[in-house]
Order: sequence, then C-alpha cells, then structure tokens
Amino acid sequence: MRIVFIGPPGAGKGTQSARLARYLKIPHLSTGDILRVAKRAGTDLGKIVGPIMDAGGLVGDELMLDVVSERLSFGDCNEGFLLDGFPRTVPQAASFCKHLEDQNQRLDHVIELRVADVELRKRLETRFRDLQDPRRDDHPDAIPHRLDVYHTETSPLLGFYSRLGGVLKTVDGLGSMDTVFERILLAIGKGIPAQPKNIRR
Ligand code: AMP
Repeated sequence: MRIVFIGPPGAGKGTQSARLARYLKIPHLSTGDILRVAKRAGTDLGKIVGPIMDAGGLVGDELMLDVVSERLSFGDCNEGFLLDGFPRTVPQAASFCKHLEDQNQRLDHVIELRVADVELRKRLETRFRDLQDPRRDDHPDAIPHRLDVYHTETSPLLGFYSRLGGVLKTVDGLGSMDTVFERILLAIGKGIPAQPKNIRR
C-alpha cells in the first residue's frame, strides 16, 4: 500500500503515521526525520537544510524530490511505503505523481489529519515546554510562520489530491491517540470490526 500523510505541525502526523506504518508493515518515511539525521551528522545535505529547518521554512522542491526518490529506490519500498511530510508543496506533488507514473505505481491513500490552528498552537507550545531537548523549530517564535507555511504552501495539496479520484481522506485529528488511529483505519477501509457483545448463555 502506498500512502501519503498530510497535516500541519502539531497535528500528531508523526505519531499516527509511524503507528499506521507499523500496523500495515510498510516503511515509514518521514522526510523531517531524514533531514534531521543529515543535519545532526553534518553531511552536505544537512548543512544546506539545517538553517532552513531551524527557521521553520521549506527545503527546495528539487532537493526534496531527490532525497525522496533515492529513499524510495531501496528494496524495502517495493511493496509500499508511507510518506510523512512529503509532498509538502504542489510542485512536489506534481513531480512525485510523475515519478510514480514512471514506475507504474499510484497512491492508494492520501490522509489529511485536520486540527484547528488554536489547538495546534497549544500542542506545539506544550511540546516545546515539556520536552527536555525540544526541536528548535517548535520554539513559540517559529510557530506562526510554520502554520503560515502550511496554509499557503501545503494545504493547496488538498485541492490537488481531491481531483485524483477518491484518494484523499480527511480525518479529524482531535481526540485521544487511539480514537484518531481508529478513525484513520476506518478512513482507509481497515476499520477494526466491532467487538461482539457479551452474549449470556
Ligand atoms: P517535519 O518533521 O515533517 O515537521 O519537518 C521538519 C522540517 O523539515 C520542515 O519544517 C521543513 O523545514 C523540512 N521538510 C521536511 N519535509 C519537507 C518537504 N517535503 N519539503 C520541504 N521541506 C521539508
């Protein structure tokens, strides 16, 4: 199964997508994680993307497509993958569509995790305050810009994918981790069957 996860910062995208990938036994490819590893390791890629990430901006489309195509060429992606954080702009989505077509592949689901901005701000502030080693881009000063970037650059993807015949599924991201996960499973047709009621004998 090939899945793309879309959601604003703080929506729970990382947690839910990792859990879904484990459940479906497909690799979880978080572009944010890939870039953070490169940044920490001080590779050429890391040096380019580090300052952009710290400022809450977006890394260039072409570079991102290179990073993702390289990772997708690994054998573990042959049977499917879950992309978390890519595509993030319409040009990325268009190039990625072309890339999949060239491989005779198509996406099965695009999952949008939707959470209102007020709630996102609260969650990101808590995450920054409570973590011992918080991400620099979670700093309260960077949050308005990251939300802005999401609304201007990433949310147009929803229009793009809604024109792609039924792949887009919007899931309400407000609720407990388990509740949201069950909604996601239902949205992709993998809902957990209701438990049979206790029958008295
Ligand atoms: P994330 O962990 O998904 O929030 O990503 C962290 C940061 O990595 C983002 O704020 C961007 O700076 C960068 N990044 C991750 N994925 C992409 C992408 N598809 N396009 C551009 N920048 C990205």
